Amino acid sequence: MENVPYKIYLREDEMPKQWYNLRADLKTDHAPILNPATLQPVTVKDLEPIFCAEMAKLELNATNRFIDIPEELLAIYRMFRPSPLVRAYCLEKELGTPAQIYYKFEGNNTSGSHKLNSAFAQAYYAKEQGLTSLTTETGAGQWGTALAMACSYFGLKAKVYMVKVSSQQKPYRKVLMETYGAEIIPSPSDTTAVGRKILAEHPSSGGSLGCAISEAVEVAVANPGTRYVLGSVLDHVLLHQSIIGLEAKLAMNKYDIYPDIVVGCAGGGSNLGGLMAPFMADKLAGRSHPYFIAVEPASCPTLTRGRFAYDFGDTGQVTPLIKMYTLGGGFIPSPNHAGGLRYHGMNATMSQLYHDGYLDEARAVEQSEVFKSAVQFARVEGILPAPESSHAIKVAIDEALKCKESGEAKTILFGLSGTGYFDLSAYAAYNAGTMTDFIPTDEELAQGFSYIPKLPGIQE
Ligand SMILES: *Cc1c(COP(=O)(O)O)cnc(C)c1O
Repeated sequence: MENVPYKIYLREDEMPKQWYNLRADLKTDHAPILNPATLQPVTVKDLEPIFCAEMAKLELNATNRFIDIPEELLAIYRMFRPSPLVRAYCLEKELGTPAQIYYKFEGNNTSGSHKLNSAFAQAYYAKEQGLTSLTTETGAGQWGTALAMACSYFGLKAKVYMVKVSSQQKPYRKVLMETYGAEIIPSPSDTTAVGRKILAEHPSSGGSLGCAISEAVEVAVANPGTRYVLGSVLDHVLLHQSIIGLEAKLAMNKYDIYPDIVVGCAGGGSNLGGLMAPFMADKLAGRSHPYFIAVEPASCPTLTRGRFAYDFGDTGQVTPLIKMYTLGGGFIPSPNHAGGLRYHGMNATMSQLYHDGYLDEARAVEQSEVFKSAVQFARVEGILPAPESSHAIKVAIDEALKCKESGEAKTILFGLSGTGYFDLSAYAAYNAGTMTDFIPTDEELAQGFSYIPKLPGIQE
């Protein structure tokens, strides 16, 4: 297949015009999201005070396989899509592997990640509904930036609760979001009841996504015209990200390529879920059998060491209950961990696929080896990868090296979800040899598990 170009671009008119709803093809649908007050499955009406109406509807849609992308949104997507599928010829040569390595690059926009795919969709529907402002949380800052960009485009106000340690580690992310007109509040903060409660219990808390979500939800519910948006974890976000996989598949089809292995990093599951969606559809239908690997940090081992249980999406226990792999809403990842992928839970569809064995494997990797792979990749492929995406790079390299051992010429596809320009303090630590690794003990994880609720008749 020597005639495959370095970059396979789709034409704008080839861009998918519908998202693909992977949930509709699950062999076993995931357990319903529950209203914590009644322990009954949530309805669209239950979700509407929190989320935009259209997001609430999409979130509960388990039946429509394809959903039209609105015309106006398609036009906006064309600002930064289709994104390229790159054949990593230089990395293959560096590794001396017979494997063919491809990556789908989602970092080619100012927010620097795939998050813009969902941010524009959510802001679009909010504007359609006549809302005036959106609240959200951000960890590493990519989602906050994407939402700030989308809100400025549609003239909506964005209030972003940013995990406190991240706001300290990444001051320029804050500048970027403010440049796009967003208001940034380090979380936990004294602007909400839940933030004040967390601060009273843990005055020096560096925060977590779980805390920031509680704060953002509280503000949204208290203010009419304001709704809460989430950049990962939920099924409607996975739906928006399916454009990554749909484009990747179209590009591969042009050269008769099909992946043997699909790799992605998993924080809340949206970029991997989006990348693998159409290939997973093939697997569920028995048309092909690609091997799927989710990669997570050893310091936040949701799939590899978490429980499959109903849990809250946040620390303050205000969100609906989701059946997912979870470390418990009170789990606070070690502050030495750079980059995102710190969320305690995992998307419900991805959790179900992992539980049922269709998502074949989850692998936890330590951050110093992740950065080693990031640097190796950057030096031959040019792009400075996000620390999150570098988890996928690490495993793609490991799989390519296995092929070198065995002589197999497998085709490996991985998601390069974003760029690392705002992660230079982490690169500096790695370059200086001061980066440390952290693996929580079973006792530390037990602390987080103690937050998983006991639900009479559902889980003890
Ligand atoms: C947010 C983010 C992730 C993790 O989120 P998922 O929902 O698991 O995709 C991964 N990579 C980048 C670059 C991100 O910004």
